[in-house]
Amino acid sequence: MSSRRVVLATGNPGKLREMRAILAGHGLEVIAQSEFGIRPPVEDGDSYVANALIKARHAAAASGLPAIGDDSGIEVDALGGRPGIHTARYAGPRGDAEANNDKLLIELAGTPESRRGARYRCAMVFVRAASDPEPIIAAASWEGRIGLERRGAGGFGYDPLFIVAGSSVTAAEMPEREKNSVSHRGQALAALAVKMKAAGW
Ligand code: IMP
Repeated sequence: MSSRRVVLATGNPGKLREMRAILAGHGLEVIAQSEFGIRPPVEDGDSYVANALIKARHAAAASGLPAIGDDSGIEVDALGGRPGIHTARYAGPRGDAEANNDKLLIELAGTPESRRGARYRCAMVFVRAASDPEPIIAAASWEGRIGLERRGAGGFGYDPLFIVAGSSVTAAEMPEREKNSVSHRGQALAALAVKMKAAGW
């Protein structure tokens, strides 16, 4: 069964919790890279896929195991698609969710609801080994809009401000299982798991 062990190349506790819950249903034993003492690499790719691949290769090289890397972000229409791949460091290098949400509300002050459209995006990459020449890639997005104030205590990051399209609740007001079934990360990971299975994983 050791061939079914996969390292998750993230240190974000919110993402880890969500990804573990999703992958548990696919019979994969997932290990956080922090359990190997692996520090995150520099994310200097120019796309979500490029950054997810950097993370996956780094975790596979450091652990000697297959790895899944993910990269995600939020794109706000009224900001021309920012912060995009720079989402984690939007308000500064610390990746502080409170500061990020404060900055988003300030940048959108005076922007009417009709122009507050946004989407989360996620890319997932699986590598069998650090030098895998054929990584398996999946990507997905989740539409919504940025609310006028924070609501809800679930999720993480921008979830208290992200009102899900076709609904009035924020991602932070959704039960975790429900978020995982529709979110950018849930959809990308489910698609990745299907592709992995088709490739013999
Ligand atoms: P990454 O760790 O480089 O992928 O950074 C992605 C950043 O996007 C996170 O730190 C969060 O701020 C934000 N983000 C991505 N997915 C979500 C989500 O599902 N909810 C809230 N924020 C998210």
